[in-house]
Amino acid sequence: MSIKARLERENLRSVYKKRFFYNSSASAKLKLLFFAGDTKETKAQSNPIEMDGEEFRQRGRQMVDLIVDYVNSFRDRPVVPNVQPGYLRPLIPPEAPQEGESFDKILADIEPVVLAGVTNWHHPNFHAYYPTASSYPAILGDMLSDAIACIGFSWIASPACTELETVMMDWLAKALGLPDHFLFSSGGRGGGVIQGTASEASLMVFLGARNDAIAKLQAAEPQGEPCELLARLVAYTSEEAHSSVERAAKLAFVRIRSLKTDEKHSLRGDALKQAIAEDRAKGLVPILCIATLGTTSSCAFDNVRELGQICNREGLWCHVDAAYAGSALLCPELRNFADGIELADSFNFNPHKWMLVTFDCSALFLRDASKIVEIFSADPIYLKHEFTGQPDYRHWQIPLGRRFRSLKIWFVMRCFGISGLQAYIRKHVSLAKEFEALILADGRFEVVEEVTLGLVCFRLKGTNEATEALYRTLREDQRIHLVASKFHSSGVYFLRFVVCSSQCESKDIRFAHSVIMEAANKLAK
Ligand code: PLP
Repeated sequence: MSIKARLERENLRSVYKKRFFYNSSASAKLKLLFFAGDTKETKAQSNPIEMDGEEFRQRGRQMVDLIVDYVNSFRDRPVVPNVQPGYLRPLIPPEAPQEGESFDKILADIEPVVLAGVTNWHHPNFHAYYPTASSYPAILGDMLSDAIACIGFSWIASPACTELETVMMDWLAKALGLPDHFLFSSGGRGGGVIQGTASEASLMVFLGARNDAIAKLQAAEPQGEPCELLARLVAYTSEEAHSSVERAAKLAFVRIRSLKTDEKHSLRGDALKQAIAEDRAKGLVPILCIATLGTTSSCAFDNVRELGQICNREGLWCHVDAAYAGSALLCPELRNFADGIELADSFNFNPHKWMLVTFDCSALFLRDASKIVEIFSADPIYLKHEFTGQPDYRHWQIPLGRRFRSLKIWFVMRCFGISGLQAYIRKHVSLAKEFEALILADGRFEVVEEVTLGLVCFRLKGTNEATEALYRTLREDQRIHLVASKFHSSGVYFLRFVVCSSQCESKDIRFAHSVIMEAANKLAK
């Protein structure tokens, strides 16, 4: 059903007409959006080089051409740019221009100044870190967000910005098979919010758990000073958790213990149980456990069922960081690793990593959003409004301002459909398995973590030195880009091969494998 038809059905059109001067002609609607120098009068008064709507149409087409040409050119470009630190400053003037320049001059600088110096994260030979997502529908969604350019800090600051986000968060939660308590539509206290990054999501959770714990302690010990109470709090995570968890703890001033994992690099219930008992015996107050699904180093999975059961029993907040792996929950056959997720109090994943939505877009779901919302509310008169019933998202995040990021989720989910997104994840998983099989076919190599998703952790058998030398050779070679890591517990050093690019095909897997074999053979000589 079209939006217009829906408005009519909901009998909202008259409201819309009254409030927003609805006019059915497309150009009139556009004039509501683009108000810079579109009429003869305003153009005559404006800076002659300022871009008007007509020029924007033309430049927009040029920019789209440039983007498509760039995206189509990866195979002709190096994956890591051939530049040295400081390459850029001499290429542009030391001061901003006094007078505006023509857009042609700006376009002419894009290749030598910018594209020559970017690491091509979407190059089919890029296998480092974890993927960062991109797709044309997401770029189009961001374009519209930039054009609307609203700051959706409250419902009234831009109702569509808030309401589309609540619906998109429910769409995501349902598509991933998350428990109902994370859905707005379940009618409980739960719901989702788009944060910029998983790091911000962890920080929000830390601050929420910290303040909740201090409020409870103060209720029991009214004489207790918040600073003194704060010093007693303790949180837990695995030794393999992302560094952002440790940073969030530092920012929240909460002590954190990194607990030992089992032989599969998974944090288990026994380790948490023991740590809680030790800390309670010392007079500390355990408040939070951050479990990881898909660790950054090796894509290991903490045992959420065991950890969640202990958290629920002991009164700890259980947060699940699934920054990369979360997108795989789109595929029902890949959901085993999230067993026990219904026990979690919050869950976070980054559609901007593996779900074809451009950075930044990190989805945080909360069982009880009031734990964050009520604690962080600061309501000056100029931000107050009379409407209730929808979230004022400024209370769900650290900054006040927020972009209209749900547009890109909406565009991506509609253009690809859940089945298109599933096919994308499945293809990457199958390419990773292909790489694993190729690596294991050579007896000199071993794979050091079970390959569940798109990451293969491999090394030359024996001491770390051989794999370190292999890594140096691959870095010098530069035809493929990957990074190394080490397990905390064993000190075993390995290389991480991640399927990242939407353009990555079987031929690129075979190419990467041949480059690695060449490097290994060179070292053997
Ligand atoms: N958590 C995990 C498990 C990650 O793998 C990463 C990054 O790769 C992060 C957190 C940090 O993500 P962000 O850059 O969104 O803060």
